[in-house]
Amino acid sequence: MHTAYRPIHNAAMGVIPPLPSGETNEALIEMAIAASACTACGLAERRRNVAFGEGNSRSPLVLVGEGPGDTEDALGRPFVGKAGQLLERALGEAGLSRNDVYIANTVKCRACDWVNGRPINRPPTDIETMACRRWLEPQLAAIDPRVILCIGAPSARNLIKRDFKITVERGKFFSSNLAKTVLATLHPAYILRNQHGGSDGGYSLLVADIVKAWEAAIRLRDGRTRQESTVPTESQPSLFEV
Ligand code: SF4
Repeated sequence: MHTAYRPIHNAAMGVIPPLPSGETNEALIEMAIAASACTACGLAERRRNVAFGEGNSRSPLVLVGEGPGDTEDALGRPFVGKAGQLLERALGEAGLSRNDVYIANTVKCRACDWVNGRPINRPPTDIETMACRRWLEPQLAAIDPRVILCIGAPSARNLIKRDFKITVERGKFFSSNLAKTVLATLHPAYILRNQHGGSDGGYSLLVADIVKAWEAAIRLRDGRTRQESTVPTESQPSLFEV
């Protein structure tokens, strides 16, 4: 399915956050416009665009990564660089497209340090991540997904639990106050780094986890719950308690 992007002009900032054309979730549109002018943390100083999120805002499945990189910062869209292209391929192999799910990040602006006049990516700090929850929580509430799939360990440590171990806990369902259930999978950037010597780097696991998350989301959306997706593996604290 093709999605065109329409510009929305923000008089205060002159920023043009890209929103999917045909977006009908007014709460999300208003949030994206407000977020485009956000200066709640230091990442606002050097960002080019806020990558708020995009996709099907009525989807039962939301994918949440850590934060935008260089390409995402340039385009104001999440997961559109090399890692995003791999994620798109994995979605395709799972029988989905970007427009079947909603894609976002825990932090909406690129985290980077400037070294010798050049931006070098770094993980968002706890302070920056906490600051951006002002957008993440209402964003998820407006979408009201059945399932959240955390893309990568940092997102899982933010949304599931601080000591989340991606190698042993990926693909498992956890309870959440943000959706009916939440699970995590490998980050496509990690997979790309590990694709050598004939190894798929964990790509097949990414596809399997997307299939698993989508099937759970559809079951829950249709009211057909089962023990695996309704009984938490571990009780989780509220985001504000993490
Ligand atoms: S990272 Fe989030 S809280 Fe910080 S300036 Fe960007 S939108 Fe605002």
